[in-house]
This record gives sequence, C-alpha cells and structure tokens, in this order.
Amino acid sequence: MKLLENKIGLVFGLANDRSIAWHIARNAIEHGATCGFPYLSGEKMERRVRKTLEDGGVAAPWLYPCDVSRDDDLDSLFSAAAKHFGRLDFVVHSIAYADREYLQPGTFAETPRAAFAQALDISVYSLLAVARRAQPLMTSGGSILTLSYYGAEKAASGYNVMGVAKAALESAVRYLAVDLGPQGIRVNSLSAGPCRTLSAMAVGGIDDILTRVEAVAPLRRNIETDEVGKAAVYLLSDLSSGVTGETHHVDAGYSAIVT
Ligand code: NAD
Repeated sequence: MKLLENKIGLVFGLANDRSIAWHIARNAIEHGATCGFPYLSGEKMERRVRKTLEDGGVAAPWLYPCDVSRDDDLDSLFSAAAKHFGRLDFVVHSIAYADREYLQPGTFAETPRAAFAQALDISVYSLLAVARRAQPLMTSGGSILTLSYYGAEKAASGYNVMGVAKAALESAVRYLAVDLGPQGIRVNSLSAGPCRTLSAMAVGGIDDILTRVEAVAPLRRNIETDEVGKAAVYLLSDLSSGVTGETHHVDAGYSAIVT
C-alpha cells in the first residue's frame, strides 16, 4: 500500500547518501510522494545532491539553492516551489548547524554569543521561517516534520549548544502545532538515535555514544538510518492524522531507560 500517493513535499537537508533527509526522501518516494529538494547553496553541494538522487533512482529531481539563514533565499525558494508544484502536502526540515569547535566535551561554557546565535538561527528559527512560508501552500492541510536528538532532554557529552538548540526545536514544534493546527497542518519531530552522517561526525565523542547505545539500548543495537525514513512516512502520511506537537523517538529504546 502506498501511503503518500499524490502527496507533494519539500525535503530540506539532503547533503549525501548518508543524510537522514535522503533516507526519508527515499522512503517517501517509494510510497508515491513527489519531492523537491532545497539544498545549501553552492555548486559543489548541488553536484553532490544531484548525484545522490540520480544514483538513488530519482530522475530529473527538482533542486533549489537555499541557505535557511537568509530570508531572501527562503522567499525565492517558496515562490519557485509554488510555481513548480502548485501546492504542498508536507515539508521535512532535516537541518542543523553549530560550529564544531564548540561540539567537543567540556567546551559548552566557552560557546561565544555569535556561535550560540548561529546554531539556534539555523537549527531552530529556520523551522518557523519554513513553516510560515509553507502554510499558504498547504491548502488541504499538511505535515511538517523536523529532526531532533535525545541531547535535547539530557546533557549528552559534546552535544553542547546543539542540545540547547534541539530543546528549543522540540518546544517550537509544540508552539507551531498550536498555531497551524486550525488549518489542518500537523507539526512533529522525530528524535533519532545516532547515525553516522556528516553532521554527526562533527560531534566529539560520537563513537563512544554509538558504542554505549549498542551496549545498553533495549534493542541492543544502533538504529539504521532507513528506520528513521520509515517512521517519517508514518508522520508525513494520514496514518498519523491525529498526531501533532509530538516528539517521536526512533532510537532502539535508548531514551526509555535509565542509563
Ligand atoms: P547531514 O549533515 O547529512 O544533514 C544536515 C543538513 O543541514 C545538510 O544537508 C546541510 O547542508 C544542511 N544545512 C546546514 N546549514 C544549512 C543552512 N544554513 N541552510 C540550509 N541547509 C543547511 O546530517 P544529518 O545527521 O542527516 O542531519 C539531519 C538532521 O538530523 C539534523 O537536524 C540533525 O541534528 C538531526 N539528527 C541527526 C542525528 C545523527 O546522529 N545523525 C541524530 C538525531 C538527529
């Protein structure tokens, strides 16, 4: 059964074939969705994103450059998406950034004001900026999904300012759910266990985190990125029609136990 037949969405945050955004897009497309791909501006990035999609069997993908910290980029993206697609049913926000210098154990208190503001701007404010522009295109309701991590709930060594950003992101999901709910737009977050992506490699101590999860998580293993993609199909589809403002964990049960 195809759960996203006739649904159109934008998937932000695809950088390569390890990206969570790619695994979500692949599963969404398998379920019948049409996806457009805003990517962080730059020719090298465009080549990498195009190659990932074409190697993955997505012929002639719709790509558009967009640095989410720039309002002009966002305006231009959504006006191009409106012309190309006419409407949107879902948006996947799979974006985060923090200066890796402050993602090392023991450096949180050293985070400069500018690095803190940049992390929160790109990783959190962008969700509001995207949701505000997607809303008029979601004429039959819709689903907005972002990506979080357990470091929002508990201090995770080395996650630092990104943990603060994820806590703010999960809160923003609840406030957006309240604002957009009356128009039938649902807003949720998927809290993924650690996956070996470019962004994850910037977090100091990621190998220790992966080893620890494997040792103690109820499923005694780390998750596959594909499992995030499969759960995303549920949150983007009508199967989750009654769910909004939620943070759904896909983490082999790690967040359910005392560690
Ligand atoms: P990734 O590096 O593949 O993806 C991060 C994406 O953010 C990249 O495509 C990058 O281009 C984009 N990005 C950064 N700054 C941007 C900007 N200014 N404008 C537009 N795009 C920008 O890594 P990922 O692990 O797939 O990360 C995706 C999301 O999943 C992030 O929110 C991350 O925090 C979250 N997450 C990751 C893990 C993990 O272990 N990998 C676990 C839980 C949550």
